[in-house]
Amino acid sequence: MHRATKIVATIGPASSTPDILLKMIRAGLDVVRLNFSHGTADDHRQRAEMVRDCARQAGREVAIMADLQGPKIRVGKFENGKTTLEPGHPFILDAECELGNDERVGLDYKDLPRDLKPGDILLLNDGLIVLDVSRVIGSEIHTIVRVGGDLSNNKGINRQGGGLTAPALTAKDMEDIRTAMSLGADFVAVSFPKNATDMEMARQLANIAGAPYGIKPKMIAKIERAEAIPALQEILDSSDGIMVARGDLAVEVGNAAVPALQKRMIRMARDSNKLVITATQMMESMIHAPVPTRAEVSDVANAVLDGTDAVMLSAESAAGKYPVQTIEAMAAICLEAEKSEQSELDKDFLDRTFTRIDQSIAMGALFTAYHLGAKAIVALTESGSTALWMSRHWTHVPIFALTPRAGSERAMSLYRNVTPLHLDTSSDRDTALQQAIEVVVSKGYAARGDMVVLTVGEPMGQPGGTNTLKIVRVGDVL
Ligand code: PGA
Ligand code: MN
Repeated sequence: MHRATKIVATIGPASSTPDILLKMIRAGLDVVRLNFSHGTADDHRQRAEMVRDCARQAGREVAIMADLQGPKIRVGKFENGKTTLEPGHPFILDAECELGNDERVGLDYKDLPRDLKPGDILLLNDGLIVLDVSRVIGSEIHTIVRVGGDLSNNKGINRQGGGLTAPALTAKDMEDIRTAMSLGADFVAVSFPKNATDMEMARQLANIAGAPYGIKPKMIAKIERAEAIPALQEILDSSDGIMVARGDLAVEVGNAAVPALQKRMIRMARDSNKLVITATQMMESMIHAPVPTRAEVSDVANAVLDGTDAVMLSAESAAGKYPVQTIEAMAAICLEAEKSEQSELDKDFLDRTFTRIDQSIAMGALFTAYHLGAKAIVALTESGSTALWMSRHWTHVPIFALTPRAGSERAMSLYRNVTPLHLDTSSDRDTALQQAIEVVVSKGYAARGDMVVLTVGEPMGQPGGTNTLKIVRVGDVL
């Protein structure tokens, strides 16, 4: 079965053996996320090698996304590893405190006191703990506990409404970008960007670090700050895609605001020809249970109906008990949701104009395949842009993108409704088209007599050169 929605899964202790990873890939894992908030450069390097080995065994490309930690603000460590905060009691966050106790704790971001004023609300540990700021005195933020609980080492801090000034890329992020490029990451996810400048800076660093390895990674902006919402369009314009990072976003804007924001972000990303990943707690209960809850099933299905390119797993696949079953369950939910999704292609086209030849061919192919009821679209592509344009509109016709470039093949593994495949295109046009059809037929995606719509650029081998549309039946002489 052809599944359109892609699955991104974080790997960690629960999924870092070749046996489990191979099973995850066979169950439908498309993009592996390496979470640079945890682990050493060596851990990531070993995991990246394991991904390449397992992908080779599974006979397909699997992309790697390096997710940078970013300027997540955290409390320091405690003498006893933790404290318990009681509602109504005072508690101090002190930038100069070395080791915390029941009265105060340190901060990894020393300038935090300068960003705060009385009346601000701080959310700790993903919003489980709420503190009201009463006074700021030098390095000390005095608070009253509104919602208490256990607070342990290094838990995150957010301000309700956002507005903390920590720079988007930390020294650790810059080092991690170099590590990510040296291990061949295809995507870099940037945490907490506020605007286009943050993304441009990250891209520049990644391109410089990637140059020795011939890599220009796709840049994904994680939308998880309140300030990123009004800046969404400029962030999209400066990125290759966004992540609806519901974990931190919910803490900053309030969790009730997130579902509507998710829909808006997905719509804006697709309208801007950009990618979008929906992330965090999608299958949370499967960390401990072999089946998802009804609410999780609906959440994943609704993200598919919203038009997301990919759904993402975090702790479920990194540290959960059932990483393989979680991917199987997610894949099944996506497939079923896609069946019910209506195409709005004609409506999509009403207010669009195309100025580029390659884009016009891509849209022409999509329109033609949809209305003729073709079995497949087969696009010969160098950069993958033909496939990207076609994948921004939903039809039930699967898109097969054949490319000689392994990097393009891996990047396209995130594109909705696109199956990337390898093809050597050193021959003339008709031979290459013939070979492309053979690849798609040999994989079982089309059979003799099926109508397919082909796109190709002539002369071949030039990125952005798509200029030809051809409609054939499998088995016909080209
Ligand atoms: P994280 O980002 O898992 O790195 O925190 C995703 C999110 O905040 O939802
Ligand atoms: Mn986050």
